Amino acid sequence: MEHPATTSRPSGPPPTAPWTLPGIGLLKGLAVTATNMIQSYYRKDRMTTVQYPEERATISPNFRNFPFLVYDGSDAMAGLRCTACSICENECPPQCIYIVLDRDENGKSLKRPKVFDIDVSVCMNCGICAEVCPFDSIYMDGEYELSTSDRFGGLLFNKQRLARSTDYHAQLRPLQAAEVAARRKADEDKKLAAQAAKEAKAKADKEAKEKAAKEQAAPE
Ligand code: SF4
Ligand code: SF4
Repeated sequence: MEHPATTSRPSGPPPTAPWTLPGIGLLKGLAVTATNMIQSYYRKDRMTTVQYPEERATISPNFRNFPFLVYDGSDAMAGLRCTACSICENECPPQCIYIVLDRDENGKSLKRPKVFDIDVSVCMNCGICAEVCPFDSIYMDGEYELSTSDRFGGLLFNKQRLARSTDYHAQLRPLQAAEVAARRKADEDKKLAAQAAKEAKAKADKEAKEKAAKEQAAPE
């Protein structure tokens, strides 16, 4: 008996591919290249070359480079949120953060950094410092034009160099800054409400004590 596979095979010569002009594939490829090149002069989505430094490409919202320190208000040093807790210093993988806690004349912590340095020549842009900070103090910057011929001094950023305003943060990372601002405001409102409740309770206790004292002192 004949094998089923051989019975369905068509008889006659095998089909041939349609005839094409030699080199047509090459011409099609060149046409695509030419279209892309011409469109790159006027179509924004195809303008992949930027005339740097006269022009700058928009950086991705998630682009990160080196960290910066956030401050509230207009005085960068007085408004730094950093409490010098040293969590980021301990967690930084290449150990490029150096912090010295500021203290008063009695040695009491002032909960602010006297020294806060980051050696950005060592920083590996991992963002761990920003992730672990419990005080919303340190975030990753998008600044990338940092070339310097001063290999050591020029890349050791102190707290003055690292300080950035809340407006800067809001402009750089609007969603993150808005979320942080809302959370900090909610925390502040909670703290104020707790303080007001404490004061009201103290006042009520005082009044109750005064009333009891008056009643005791009154003649029977
Ligand atoms: S981004 Fe990473 S390497 Fe750079 S300072 Fe922060 S924790 Fe250290
Ligand atoms: S930046 Fe944050 S984690 Fe680092 S020392 Fe300051 S408060 Fe602590």
